[in-house]
Amino acid sequence: MLVPMKELVKAAHQGGYAVGGFNVYNLEGAMAVVRAAEASHAPVILQIHDGAFNYGGTMLMALCKAAAAAAKVPIAVHMDHISSAETIQLALDNGITSIMADGSHLPFEGNVAFSRQMAELVHQHGGSVEAELGRLAGTEDGLSVSEMEAHMTDPSQAADFIQRTGVDTLAVCIGNVHGHYWMEPQLDFPRLAAINRAAQIPLVLHGASGLPAHQVQDAIKLGISKINVNTEVREAFVKAIGGTFQSDQKPPELLKMLAPAIEAMIEVVADKISFLGSAGKAK
Ligand SMILES: [Zn+2]
Repeated sequence: MLVPMKELVKAAHQGGYAVGGFNVYNLEGAMAVVRAAEASHAPVILQIHDGAFNYGGTMLMALCKAAAAAAKVPIAVHMDHISSAETIQLALDNGITSIMADGSHLPFEGNVAFSRQMAELVHQHGGSVEAELGRLAGTEDGLSVSEMEAHMTDPSQAADFIQRTGVDTLAVCIGNVHGHYWMEPQLDFPRLAAINRAAQIPLVLHGASGLPAHQVQDAIKLGISKINVNTEVREAFVKAIGGTFQSDQKPPELLKMLAPAIEAMIEVVADKISFLGSAGKAK
C-alpha cells in the first residue's frame, strides 16, 4: 500500500531501525523492491532520482505509485536529489509528496532559503521534505561531486538549519559517499552523534552501497532512520543482464533476460532490508 513517508520514518525512528530507500529506474527495479519487501515483511521506499526522473518523467512516477499501491507492505514513493522547484511542483501535481529538496550545492544561506521555500510548498500538500546539509562526494546518475567540493555536515549549523527551514528529515554527510568506497569507509560517529543531539528529527544516510553492516547499525543507533541504496542494486541488474545476453539468440527473449535481473536485484534489496533491521516491520 502507498503510505506517506512521515509514517514510515516515524515508526523507524521510534523503533530503532531504518527504512531502505531504493532507487528505481524501470519496471524491473520497482518489481524487485516490492517483491523483496513483501518477502521480508518490510516497509520500503521507492525512490526516483533526478536523473531517473529526467529519463522516465511522469511515467516513472505513475509506475512507482502503482507498484506501491499494489504492494502488500507499506511503501512510500520519494523524489531523490531534486534541486528544481519546477520538478518538485510537478511531483506534487502527480501525487508524490515525499521530496528531497536538495540545496546542498548552494552556500549555507542559499540552502536555507531553498529548503524553507520547498518545505512550505510540500507541507501545503501534506507531504514531507528531506534536505541535505553538507555536500556528499561521489557520483550518482550523472551528478558528480568531487572531494574538493564535498564537505561534511557541521553539527553547529544543524539546529539552526532545521529550525529555519522546517524540514522533516536531514541527510547528513559524515564520510559517506555516493557510488563506490575506494577505501575502507569510516563514518564519523562523533559528528553524527553531535548532529543527532542538535537535530532532534530523523536523519538520512545516503551512499550505503558498500558500507559494512556494523557501521550502518551504529549509525541507526545515532538517529539514522532512512538509508539510501542505489549502486549495488544497479550493479546486480547490469551483471545479471550481461550474463543472460547472447547476441546470437534470435529472436531475443527479453523477458527471459530480465527475469534473472529482477532476481539479482531482489537478493541485494532483501539483504539490505535485513541489515537495516526493517525486516518484519511492515504494519
Ligand atoms: Zn544521495
